[in-house]
Amino acid sequence: MAVIAVANQKGGVGKTATVLNLGAALAEVGEKVVLVDLDPQANLTTIAGVEEVELSTHDLLLSTEVELRDVTLMTPWENLALVPSESPLAAAEVQLSSARARQQRLAQKLQGLAEGTVVLIDTPPSLGFLTINALTAADQVLMPVQTSYLAMQGLRQLLRTIERVQERTNPDLRLLGLLLTMYDARTRHAQEVKQRLIEHFGDLVFDSVIPRTVAFDYATVAAEPLIHLRPRSPAAEAYRKLAKEVLKRA
Ligand code: ADP
Ligand code: MG
Repeated sequence: MAVIAVANQKGGVGKTATVLNLGAALAEVGEKVVLVDLDPQANLTTIAGVEEVELSTHDLLLSTEVELRDVTLMTPWENLALVPSESPLAAAEVQLSSARARQQRLAQKLQGLAEGTVVLIDTPPSLGFLTINALTAADQVLMPVQTSYLAMQGLRQLLRTIERVQERTNPDLRLLGLLLTMYDARTRHAQEVKQRLIEHFGDLVFDSVIPRTVAFDYATVAAEPLIHLRPRSPAAEAYRKLAKEVLKRA
């Protein structure tokens, strides 16, 4: 079992697109994949085509009686399951304020998952309670980084948060890699950002780079992973290549 949290406190960097498309690419090569939506905005749930949610990650975190299998939905795509989210999840931190081990809630619920399952956790754009739960439950963190100079600035803060989680709740957590997203090969700026990240992080930067393309907007409207909607597009191929790298590293 591998549990991978996809995290970056900046919004709009491609976390949710990465969870869905990396998950779909892993499922396509036969991995059993469970996507966990830990963002109260529930973008992952929406773009995966789920319209009505009965039980969600909110129930999973709040209730000791709700188990992972109770909240897991099969998607129309083979090997790809989803644990959906809904807006009340935003209140989970307050509702759990007096609960003990509240940062370990998700980790506890993921125990007992079938051997060989890959779990991808989508996180909200903050380093608060929900992201800490995800990092505490995860073996590894994948950081999508939008290929722009400003987007690099938040990385230090995210790395500090990872260190804090390692010290407090999850000593085994490690950084799986940095993924450049929304890459525009025509601009010098994007190439410079890529160069600087490689200088800084070396092999941690995935070879696969996700190009910027409006096709993601169509995939959102179609409520389908891009890798299924446009299977031969460069972005789809990039997510397949990423899946291979992830399997090699994880
Ligand atoms: P986050 O989860 O980090 O907030 P999203 O994955 O929701 O980011 O992406 C933000 C927006 O950008 C969405 O509308 C999404 O469809 C779009 N998007 C994601 N990846 C790409 C890409 N490689 N190229 C162009 N648009 C993208
Ligand atoms: Mg998101």
